[in-house]
Amino acid sequence: MSDLTRLTAAELATALTAGEVSSVEVTQAHLDRIAAVDGDVHAFLNVDAEGALGEAAAVDAARAAGEKLHPLAGVPVAVKDVVVTKGQVTTAGSKILEGWVPPYDATLVTRLRQARMPILGKTNMDEFAMGSSTEHSAYGPTRNPWDLDRIPGGSGGGSAAAVAAYEAPLAIGTDTGGSIRQPAAVTGTVGVKPTYGSVSRYGLIALASSLDQAGPCTRTVLDAGLLHDVIGGHDPRDSTSLPEPAPSYADAARQGAAGDLQGLRVGVVNELGGEGYDPGVRDAFQKALDTMVAAGADVVEVSCPSFSAALAAYYLILPSEASSNLAKFDGMRYGLRVEPSEGPVTAERVMAATRGAGFGDEVKRRIILGTYALSAGYYDAYYGSAQKVRTLIQRDFAAAFEQADVLVSPTTPTTAFPLGSKLEDPLAMYLNDVATIPANLAGVPGLSLPSGLSDDGLPAGIQILAPARQDARLYAVGAALEALLLQQWGGPLLAHAPELAVAR
Ligand code: GLN
Repeated sequence: MSDLTRLTAAELATALTAGEVSSVEVTQAHLDRIAAVDGDVHAFLNVDAEGALGEAAAVDAARAAGEKLHPLAGVPVAVKDVVVTKGQVTTAGSKILEGWVPPYDATLVTRLRQARMPILGKTNMDEFAMGSSTEHSAYGPTRNPWDLDRIPGGSGGGSAAAVAAYEAPLAIGTDTGGSIRQPAAVTGTVGVKPTYGSVSRYGLIALASSLDQAGPCTRTVLDAGLLHDVIGGHDPRDSTSLPEPAPSYADAARQGAAGDLQGLRVGVVNELGGEGYDPGVRDAFQKALDTMVAAGADVVEVSCPSFSAALAAYYLILPSEASSNLAKFDGMRYGLRVEPSEGPVTAERVMAATRGAGFGDEVKRRIILGTYALSAGYYDAYYGSAQKVRTLIQRDFAAAFEQADVLVSPTTPTTAFPLGSKLEDPLAMYLNDVATIPANLAGVPGLSLPSGLSDDGLPAGIQILAPARQDARLYAVGAALEALLLQQWGGPLLAHAPELAVAR
């Protein structure tokens, strides 16, 4: 086999099952790639070569012994550092958790281990998943493999960059307001935010519990379905986990790949994609839409008037929940502990010194905002109003899904922007998620796949949204559109783009 890092997870699974290649070879190829390019990309916060190779060797031995294995057994995966991994440092990109070794695995990690997928390491992210560029990581930014001077999106820039740079065939992300889909869009990869409750949140370091959802970061829609099948399904440890058994999303993707969209009602959301979106991003979106129409889809225009208030509502609800979730980082229970430089060492003063030293500016900004929004006298005006907007957004979705089977929009307003260009302007940073946030507020699933290159030569994404619990529809439609676009482009966007900035 030539370069194993260029194969999709589905292809690797087939080659492994056929015995054409070993998991040790596949895992080593990715570790070699990480060694070659991650000095530039910085997708990983830590790499567990020994653990990954150990599991790979065990999988190879089990396969040789004729054991019945999961189809993805032996296919390596990278995990965002907001997901706890037993025995492996987990920091959520924060100094306050520097060196913290969790005593347990998140449910989704347990499932990766049960499927016997070697875990390559933990990926970089904005601190506590707050951000859209990965520049808020306390450990330095990740760089976009398309152009090392540009951001890879965030908060899960590490996971997206790892798959875009062929350092991992699969990665896990989390999406609270777009952190899987936005990085996918700006790195030319695929990302899925499942229906809220589809993937267990047990063992995710919580940002905003009513919005957080883990999901796949991959290079193809089928690979995303394969990974979703591993990590999804009911978990009694998460009280918001959906009880019903999930269908196979990989099967949905395989069925969709025939590219037939006959009779599909595609709703174009009026409020997402107009003013403020780059012309090149809009053009790529329009071409992808035309491709769907040529394959038999019917376009309907839908209006979701409350979406205009989504960003404002999100930036009250998220900081409110985050300020409460982050209260546990007090210098007593986890990670960093800083004692005051002078004066008495009281619990309160240790807490203040620890949080002052351990949290970055963006985290502090949101804690202050959230605490204020929840304070007596302001609660109804801010948090209460934001929750009402949330209900209106859910109603907009319900009305739109009466008219359309799926909704579509550009995933992000722009392509990857230069590092540093929005760091000093929080509001400009927040605007990156204007198209992705409504799905989190309503709990509906969303998938981003490459729509084409913008006029600056950088990738743009199209977002497909479906009603809650209809994730299978996303995979079917996403795989169909992907197949059609690949025919047009003569192969994946990543392979047909200008050379990746990182050596091939
Ligand atoms: N960029 C958004 C934020 O900063 C989304 C974050 C996320 O999805 N984790 O909150």
